[in-house]
Amino acid sequence: MSLEYSGCFLCPRHCGADRSAGKKGFCKMDAKPRVNLFRLHYGEEPCISGEEGSGTVFFEGCSLGCVFCQNYLISRGATACGTEMDAEDLSDIYMELAGMNANNINLVTPMHWAPTVRDSIILARGKGLTIPVALNISGYENTDTLKMFDGLCDIYLTDFKFYSSSLSSKVCGVSDYLDVAVSAIDEMVRQKGAPVFDERGMMRSGVIIRHLMLPGQLFDTKKILDLILDRYGDKVIISLMDQYTPMPRAIEACGNKKLPAEFAGRINPDHYKAMCDYLMLSGHPNCYMQEGDASGDLWIPEFKV
Ligand code: SF4
Repeated sequence: MSLEYSGCFLCPRHCGADRSAGKKGFCKMDAKPRVNLFRLHYGEEPCISGEEGSGTVFFEGCSLGCVFCQNYLISRGATACGTEMDAEDLSDIYMELAGMNANNINLVTPMHWAPTVRDSIILARGKGLTIPVALNISGYENTDTLKMFDGLCDIYLTDFKFYSSSLSSKVCGVSDYLDVAVSAIDEMVRQKGAPVFDERGMMRSGVIIRHLMLPGQLFDTKKILDLILDRYGDKVIISLMDQYTPMPRAIEACGNKKLPAEFAGRINPDHYKAMCDYLMLSGHPNCYMQEGDASGDLWIPEFKV
């Protein structure tokens, strides 16, 4: 299997698209990385954003394609407003963000350009980048692609989205999300081990597993939390999120017509509280939970469209 761009097998979609020849796979992207936006971002977990902000780089395209994607304006290839960048250009913007006092470099949905992103991190380290580099990813990842970042990625910020295969099939058309995500997170934890923080409480190394609760899916969330607690324990940080916001236009961008009815509402606050209580009772030492209703578009960046 090719882990470069010709006959692409970089993600578990395994399209085999010849991106070197300008073809696009499910991720909607050819071989030239496109960055829509880069800036300091303050909406991540406190150990990532801190007061100074996280140096966030938003890549276009995505290999998962959830029907409720908050970043649908840039994730489904509907626009091509981003700037094409090679590894050298990317390393330069990491240095620029570091110069803005960012706590880290936070690469959002970069894995369909893994070879170039890997090279960009190596180049940036050569230019003197000392802050941690985080890969902010969906959890639906090839372990071989993750291995490209062994020793290069400091922090994995990974989603863990679904337990049920019928749910993952409905949301993004993949029935194997659970098995793929568990193998991927096993690899992330193998690489990073337990979380490490600096003297200010900022994360230097480790894995944060994020789970966004979905409307009416309390049972799915409980199964995911049980799996994380049993399998990874205190080797990971758990971030339980309540900010699900219906995005009717996201599904249009995915080529479908209508958002399934069950995703048209917000999550039940009592369900979120129940899962927060459950996590607290588990005694897990490193959990983030949100205070108040974090849904809405407050933290959605103003993408170039
Ligand atoms: S990264 Fe894109 S082209 Fe490559 S296998 Fe995944 S969806 Fe297909």
